[in-house]
Amino acid sequence: MNALMMQFPLTLPHVLERMGQFFGRIEVVSRRPDKSLHRTTYGEIHGRVLKLANALQRLGVKPGDRVATLGWNHSRHLEAYFAIPLMGAVLHTLNPRLSPADLSYIMNHADDTVLLVDDVLVPVYERFRANVHPRNVIVWGNGMRPAEGLLDYEDLIAPELNAFTPPPLDENQAAGLCYTSGTTGKPKGVLYSHRSIILHSLVSALPDALGLKQTDTMMPVVPMFHVNAWGLPVTAAMMGTKQVFPGPHLDAVSLLELIDGEKVTITAGVPTIWISILEALDKEPARFDHSRLHTMVVGGSAAPQSMIEAYEKRHGLRILHAWGMTEMSPIGTVSRIKAGLETLPEAEQFRLRATQGLPVPLVEVRVVGDNGPVPWDGRSMGELHVRGPWIASSYFQNPVEADKFTKDGWLRTGDVVTMDGEGYVRITDRSKDLIKSGGEWISSVDLENALMGHPAVKEAAVIALPHEKWAERPVACVVLKDGRTATEQELRDFLTPLFAAFQLPDAFVFLDVLPRTATGKFLKSALREQLKALKLS
Ligand code: AMP
Repeated sequence: MNALMMQFPLTLPHVLERMGQFFGRIEVVSRRPDKSLHRTTYGEIHGRVLKLANALQRLGVKPGDRVATLGWNHSRHLEAYFAIPLMGAVLHTLNPRLSPADLSYIMNHADDTVLLVDDVLVPVYERFRANVHPRNVIVWGNGMRPAEGLLDYEDLIAPELNAFTPPPLDENQAAGLCYTSGTTGKPKGVLYSHRSIILHSLVSALPDALGLKQTDTMMPVVPMFHVNAWGLPVTAAMMGTKQVFPGPHLDAVSLLELIDGEKVTITAGVPTIWISILEALDKEPARFDHSRLHTMVVGGSAAPQSMIEAYEKRHGLRILHAWGMTEMSPIGTVSRIKAGLETLPEAEQFRLRATQGLPVPLVEVRVVGDNGPVPWDGRSMGELHVRGPWIASSYFQNPVEADKFTKDGWLRTGDVVTMDGEGYVRITDRSKDLIKSGGEWISSVDLENALMGHPAVKEAAVIALPHEKWAERPVACVVLKDGRTATEQELRDFLTPLFAAFQLPDAFVFLDVLPRTATGKFLKSALREQLKALKLS
């Protein structure tokens, strides 16, 4: 017999209405490029979202269209987060740190009809403008008039009505789009549905997941172009939680000022951010009041155990380690100590908290080795596979990478892990040929291909070496052709026009031969071992 529950679509307008109806006076604070603070409320944002939806409709945006943003974290970006899906269109966040070639590829692949861009990021847009064709470009300005041909956001929404009737929305239709780096070549798009975003937010807010309450003040340091700031802005709107957006200022002192001044209770970002904040706190432990901060969520790369311990022992601050992927909206696992394990010795508890943790509800996991599933003994390694309602089942318009998804619904993460008997996942390696530096991807294969295009280079293998601040940095191992020479500087200059600055290798090591596997692939584990003593500054 069927249950008699109503068919209630899980769509974002519900969150928008709830935010406006019940949390209208809750503040949203944003840091402007000139470092001043902009203050608004969910009530005002609610009205401006409706105006923006009308304005975009006037510009011809239709359900299903992709609308791109190129912006830091601020309240106007949050307005776009709601207005675009409200119209049945798809919010496509662009990462300004990517190379102009990647940005134009991504915009063209997504066929973005309109672009919203921060005034301070217009120079980034200028670098790929000639190769993309949005119908309109709207500038999130801060007092200055936009250049010829660009529209001003405030002018655009000012005359609009703050009432909007959304078209009928299906919970499974796309609401968001985010691209992630491919191992070889082109970035891949992940589409999020209204339903996946809502379910992800609900679970993310659970006390044993990230834990977000109405009475919190949440500061997402993770950019809104990185998997929607891990879903946190929407989760906070759903809960009615005050939000603090750092804008373009991600240095330790600027962030600590906000934590202190706005009484932030929970914040989230990649390890590189927390490593620099730890340094600043160690230097001046009494300068900032962080007494209300109860949780610092760290993910995107492994949170070093030493950092977790240092925060707790020296500053009484608690790191919560989480793991996820763009393909997973992103939350997959969160590391908290289970009931019964809090009696373990302190060192063992820190060790557990530095693992990637336990899968959150609705995320299923399995660990697969060469001969099928491996035992959950904390030692046997295999690739982590995941499935669940906010996990992608394919890439957007990309049949090439279909083998990332198994026929029975699992996503192959490319992360090599062990899992212990309690269910704690620990990442030990990565099978995808990518390097993650300060939360941003670098494709070793792209660097290798480019290097091998240099007339003096016979072979090149690019590996990741651990780095204290950036988690990993690329190092190029190069074999030169017989009789040819090339200096480190020549190779760096050769790569510079092809890559974003942060993607260039920190060092070039010249070798006579590169170690290989039985199947002829570069044996990168041997290179990593060979170069482990190399000091990167
Ligand atoms: P992205 O799609 O950019 O969010 O990157 C996802 C990938 O980043 C994962 O597949 C991991 O390789 C890595 N990653 C994310 N979180 C962590 C973590 N807590 N520890 C180690 N690696 C992580």
